[in-house]
Amino acid sequence: MFVALTQSQLALRIERARAMLRHCELCELRCGVDRTARGAVRGDARAGSPPPCGLDDRTFCFKRHISYAEELELLPSYMVYFGGCNFRCRFCVQAPGCFAPRGGVEVAPAEAAHDFARVVGRGARTINLLGGEPSMHLHTILEIAAAAEQPLPLALNSNMYMTPEVIEMLDGVVGLYIADLKFGPGGCGASLAGIDRYWEVVTRNLRLAGERAEVLVRHLVMPGHIECCLRPAAEWLAANLPAASFTLMTGYLPAWRARSTPGIDRCLTETETREAERIVSELGLRRSA
Ligand code: SF4
Repeated sequence: MFVALTQSQLALRIERARAMLRHCELCELRCGVDRTARGAVRGDARAGSPPPCGLDDRTFCFKRHISYAEELELLPSYMVYFGGCNFRCRFCVQAPGCFAPRGGVEVAPAEAAHDFARVVGRGARTINLLGGEPSMHLHTILEIAAAAEQPLPLALNSNMYMTPEVIEMLDGVVGLYIADLKFGPGGCGASLAGIDRYWEVVTRNLRLAGERAEVLVRHLVMPGHIECCLRPAAEWLAANLPAASFTLMTGYLPAWRARSTPGIDRCLTETETREAERIVSELGLRRSA
């Protein structure tokens, strides 16, 4: 059961999260860059290689808006987009803007906490932190939680490629994970998003998240990826995380580089959509509304 952290617990977590930035292993790329040394992040020759995500110790937000287009149990949902991502999904609908680590407005935790409380006061049910990849902004999320007078209904809308320490640090802060399970156990994570060990990392993290918070898993069905991605993802969920809500997304559009990637450069056929629905129905997954 979710129990919100106290202010003193949050203060300790913030201190630890800030220390973690000095040798960043917030995601499983574990590049170890010092994100507090902004020269390193810019790629100055004297400071070594920049991190793949390009992030330093600041968080920028490139968009905030209320959404009525999420799962019913989330609505209304306040969408908060943090810049910077560790994935390069060829079909990303937010690309390339979401990759920019310093696009938009720098987040000031006190202002963000005030803004989030304001929208919650007006009826927002969830604060939907996304990006980019929000888990790489662990320190900022903790600072926003600490700046709020009341616990906020924070939901982490994530690719779930963080290290286990991040999930531990968000325990008592994030009450809901909105988790993308994008690819199956084959090579699709590597070929379509540039990510190694995708399945191993994400399924491990889904289990860890499910021990600490509610989990809603989404799968965007890609054309030609029913047997390699949808089926194993759905079967894994049915066997390992049956209490999680599941959303089958069949509205795939070939965005960004998908348009020039053979195989995923088209929408789903009706036959593929029906087959996806059949697989999920037969497994009895707990569908979200
Ligand atoms: S979050 Fe960025 S800096 Fe940290 S390990 Fe991942 S890629 Fe490296």
